[in-house]
Amino acid sequence: MLAELVVKDLHVSVENKEILRGVNLTVRQGEVHALMGPNGSGKSTLAYTVAGHPHYKVMSGDVLLNGESILGLQADQRAKAGLFLAFQYPTAIPGVSMANFLRQAVSAVRGYTDRAKAAVAEGGSAGQIGSELVPMREFRKELTEKMDKLHIDATFARRYLNDGFSGGEKKRAEILQMAMLEPKIAILDETDSGLDIDALRVVAEGVNSLVGPNLGALLITHYQRLLNYIKPGFVHVFYNGQIVLSGGPDLALELEEKGYHWIRDQFGEPLAGVEID
Ligand code: ADP
Ligand code: MG
Repeated sequence: MLAELVVKDLHVSVENKEILRGVNLTVRQGEVHALMGPNGSGKSTLAYTVAGHPHYKVMSGDVLLNGESILGLQADQRAKAGLFLAFQYPTAIPGVSMANFLRQAVSAVRGYTDRAKAAVAEGGSAGQIGSELVPMREFRKELTEKMDKLHIDATFARRYLNDGFSGGEKKRAEILQMAMLEPKIAILDETDSGLDIDALRVVAEGVNSLVGPNLGALLITHYQRLLNYIKPGFVHVFYNGQIVLSGGPDLALELEEKGYHWIRDQFGEPLAGVEID
């Protein structure tokens, strides 16, 4: 069965301010959606809420993966269920190599870590089922294959996670993480991060090479120019905490032509404290 992420009449508040005001959206495995809108409209709030960030309070509505609500799940459980969120501002972890970090993450998402813990809890040893990590050889092989496919230099795996990374390298790290975790639905929030063209291209090439029948993607972006590189099948315009328009690729072209100001003309002033640009 194809995985399906459904956001249903979702209302979310941050610090007692309602930010999402009834979001409805369905993303299926194999589909590429673009969510576009001016800064401050609540796009990142949607991404963080779906990923399970505790700062964002769901007031009503639901987020379902394959028909089941994920709102009660912790962020790591959501990842295990097949969701991936690429962070807009990834954290640097000096001392932890990319390879090490990825092995930990893959092991957790694929259940190695839990199986080892369960074995120990039952009085056995983690050793009986192997280590709590994906076996090194298997991991190395997969990592090498995927880095080749994404044209990522082999030395990258030995560098410390996001430590001194350029914008483009951070994006590369993010795409590699996505390739390794093999999510069913990925949300990539690129907004406001001031991506240069190089970084944008990395994201686009990565997404294009990973998108297929097994991956559904929601690309969140302020910039129409991302769509010069990625062709989404579905385009949504986000404004004042809602999707105000949905359409096909033509809608992206229309946005490119007209910018965002016409949205204000059509859908009213932005809510207090939100700037349009
Ligand atoms: P976008 O990603 O579309 O630029 P955001 O979701 O980042 O929009 O922000 C929407 C609104 O929510 C803004 O008014 C912002 O100030 C507010 N907001 C978002 N996250 C937080 C937070 N962690 N704390 C306080 N306010 C927030
Ligand atoms: Mg944002």
